Amino acid sequence: MPEQTMLKKYAELALKCGVNLQENQMLVVNSSIEGAPFARMVVKIAYEMGAKTVHINWSDDTLDRLWYENAAQEVLENVPEWRVKMFDHFAEEGAAILSIRSTNPDLLKGIESSRISASNKAAGDAMKNFRKYTMNDKITWSIVAIPNGEWAKKIFPETSEAKAIEQLWEQIFKITRVDQEDPVEAWNKHNATLSKAKDVLNDHKYKKLIYKAPGTDLTIELPEGHIWKGGSSPSEKGIEFNANMPTEEVFTLPHKYGVNGTVSSTKPLSYGGNLINNFSLTFKEGKVVDFSAEEGQETLENLLNMDEGARRLGEIAIVPHESPISQSGLIFFNTLYDENASCHLALGKAYPSSVKGGAAMDDDALDANGVNNSITHVDFMMGSGELDIDGVKEDGSTEAIFRNGNWAINVK
Ligand code: ZN
Ligand code: ZN
Repeated sequence: MPEQTMLKKYAELALKCGVNLQENQMLVVNSSIEGAPFARMVVKIAYEMGAKTVHINWSDDTLDRLWYENAAQEVLENVPEWRVKMFDHFAEEGAAILSIRSTNPDLLKGIESSRISASNKAAGDAMKNFRKYTMNDKITWSIVAIPNGEWAKKIFPETSEAKAIEQLWEQIFKITRVDQEDPVEAWNKHNATLSKAKDVLNDHKYKKLIYKAPGTDLTIELPEGHIWKGGSSPSEKGIEFNANMPTEEVFTLPHKYGVNGTVSSTKPLSYGGNLINNFSLTFKEGKVVDFSAEEGQETLENLLNMDEGARRLGEIAIVPHESPISQSGLIFFNTLYDENASCHLALGKAYPSSVKGGAAMDDDALDANGVNNSITHVDFMMGSGELDIDGVKEDGSTEAIFRNGNWAINVK
């Protein structure tokens, strides 16, 4: 374990800049049992900050795997009602939701993929209402990560487990700016930088983006009234929060019927306890019509078959190749980290707030405005030092947005 002072700084940062916990507010912490010492520290600080109460949902990789191995199919296909009600209750209470993730990227390796997809689908369906609270920024929520042995060894396979964990902590502290004198102040500055970049993109009002890289030739239409976002965002009550720590992206949504061409992945995607690697997707009028993966073909197929909307895109995010996470040169096998080292797209649901007035639209209005709907939302990495992006403006003229993986327009 790292020094207590560093862990304390990380816990404080997650509560202040992540969920931005308010006095007298309820906090819900989702944590793996392995991360208990850190979770307890978070809870202690939360009470010091004036939390009304803290509820913890523990998870355990070992038990999760046993469940996937042994539970009856009908159990996998159903989420108990009490669990759905519990999360709805937290949302209605206006609780802040902090997820402390610690995932083994190979946790479910070897489990029949139809069993995994059945349970993913059930969870996606059951959590529809709760997801409205998070994806519309109705409540404050945040995801941070802490190491575990399997994950750390996946990133640093040459070293001992203890050393690998230590190295991963070091990376996490560096990337989340916890190693800086005043991490909260560092995040305020960082949020301001991302906010400036999104303002510049919003001013340009691009109609279309054209992506070109080895294995990628993709045209993405942007819906009218699309909004670029980046850094912290305000909740319904006006509380600024960072949904992901780290975050290096500016993002908006594509038009769900306006994506054409082929895109190739540039980093492995850890999805539902399995890896999908070196894959490509071909789109026609927004829908994936062809796909292949060197590794994890079946997992990719299950993801695409989750529902109608899983074959369409719900997010486009721009991350410069020179971002600090990318500069670490590491592959994290964890989307929270890898997506912030690389331009990415997401299959599945779009954030309704990415389009003007979207948070108040019903499903039909969202569809008419090109906003994709799905029970899933999965980011995948497709950026590299070879990616070029052109923007087509309203008058039909084209300009370079990205060259060789970095900004070609001035976003400062
Ligand atoms: Zn993203
Ligand atoms: Zn996303």
